[in-house]
Amino acid sequence: METINFPKKTLKVSFNEWESKIPYYIIKGKRPGPKIFISAGMHGAEINGIAIVRTFLEKAQKENLIDDLYGSIVVIPVINISGFNEMKRQVQEDKRDLNRAFGKYPIKSFSEALADKLTTQIFSKCSLGIDCHDAGASTILMPHVRIHKDDPEGLNRALGRAFGTKVLIKRKANQNMMAEHLRMKHNVPVITVEIGGAQIIDEEAVNEGVQGIYNILIHTKMLKTGTMVIPKKQFFLTNRIGIKTLEGGEIHIHRKLGESVEAGDELGWIHFPQTQKTEILRAPTCGFVFAKWIRNQIPKNGTMYGILEDKSCPIAKSEALDELDRIPEFMIRKHNFSG
Ligand SMILES: [Zn+2]
Repeated sequence: METINFPKKTLKVSFNEWESKIPYYIIKGKRPGPKIFISAGMHGAEINGIAIVRTFLEKAQKENLIDDLYGSIVVIPVINISGFNEMKRQVQEDKRDLNRAFGKYPIKSFSEALADKLTTQIFSKCSLGIDCHDAGASTILMPHVRIHKDDPEGLNRALGRAFGTKVLIKRKANQNMMAEHLRMKHNVPVITVEIGGAQIIDEEAVNEGVQGIYNILIHTKMLKTGTMVIPKKQFFLTNRIGIKTLEGGEIHIHRKLGESVEAGDELGWIHFPQTQKTEILRAPTCGFVFAKWIRNQIPKNGTMYGILEDKSCPIAKSEALDELDRIPEFMIRKHNFSG
């Protein structure tokens, strides 16, 4: 573990009796170029996102990134400090989800004050952002990038592809999410990265996340050396199928994330102690194992596993996986990306 020597600053946010001091680092390249941000810990229980940022900082320092970098990177290792300290998703001062607090005026909560200060002082001054998340306390997810349904220029989609995960997921945007607010009101595209979960670090997935950051630096020409690492096939989807349990149970899922399954394949089993019944868990369709509950106890209505449906599956729904062809050229508007 190395001490990080990049210049460190603090963003102070206060609201009523509460105060937070959010530390951040500036990696300033030796040559001029755009400014971007990389953040983690918006949700305090998502350690894989936080580990991506830590690993990136260590690598950037060890490999003297500043010598080759055009422009600068603002790095925020943990945004929601109170949530992180309690291992909770929400901001603990007001128990709100920070990723639903952007663009809310007048400011009525600590979370909204945090969102506002981050936006005005850091995010809106950047040309691009990478925000790192994971699946939270009990589930793990296949590494993927989330993009918005309303993405008229295909910018988020192009950036998501350049980040280089095998899977991209299109989601319905909420205007108070950081990524959606910055895109709509500040013309700043944000790549939302989801990797791993369950408060266990998946080193391989974390390294994939760090490579994704380097891919973006190369794609945006902030780095003119290095090669992007992109899987041969990337998939874009709008349809994921999550299977819930109607009762609490003891659960065992044997399949790995990313494993391909046929419809009806056995994934594991769940036992209900109240009735002493055991059920075999089966894939409802063919595709990849995308999400799985990682603990052996699951509550009522918990999502046990998720399958990404393959379009070639004989019983596929219309909005299934779509295999992509080539990555479009980088599309950020020049005026927004010149400094
Ligand atoms: Zn999150």
